[in-house]
Amino acid sequence: MKSDTLPVNEIFYSLQGEGFHTGTPAVFVRLSGCNLRCPFCDTDHSAHTPMTVSDITSEVTRYPAPTVILTGGEPSLYDLTDLIDALHSLGRRVHIETNGTRPIPATIDWITCSPKPGGQVVLSRCDEMKIVYTGQDVEAIADRIPAGHHFLQPCSGANIPEVIDYILRHPRWRLSLQTHKLLSIP
Ligand code: SF4
Repeated sequence: MKSDTLPVNEIFYSLQGEGFHTGTPAVFVRLSGCNLRCPFCDTDHSAHTPMTVSDITSEVTRYPAPTVILTGGEPSLYDLTDLIDALHSLGRRVHIETNGTRPIPATIDWITCSPKPGGQVVLSRCDEMKIVYTGQDVEAIADRIPAGHHFLQPCSGANIPEVIDYILRHPRWRLSLQTHKLLSIP
């Protein structure tokens, strides 16, 4: 979708709570809207403010972290090329968290792909695969989409023993916990 503005749900500064970059500071730019309706979705991203690339970069530069994470919702619903270019010109690395059902601009620095039930992944690779484990065949997904790192995450923290047991039997996976929720990091 090409537009002069992007629907921004929120921009905030925090620590990455999940996956490979857990514990590192980043500016999160959450865009509104998603093409999937996962039953366990815990993100209220319906509200938004239309912001230009300039509006967004002005907000991002309030914070010192070198990394900006585009998240959602599903950020790849929108044309992100101008925003990525603008953030790069400010010296920021740009990561994206995506369900993988839509193409991602080649200029992105890090792709975290979280395939979801009912969402056909179109990406040919990702840097990090992070799956909320609910007993699905994650090996078939991982075999189909090359990834540098593989993380399994309990579903809303409810099945941690099941996820640990699965990882012990399938050691290409690593445990990812929603540490920002466990530690009440805003
Ligand atoms: S893909 Fe992510 S944001 Fe979209 S509905 Fe599923 S969990 Fe929510």
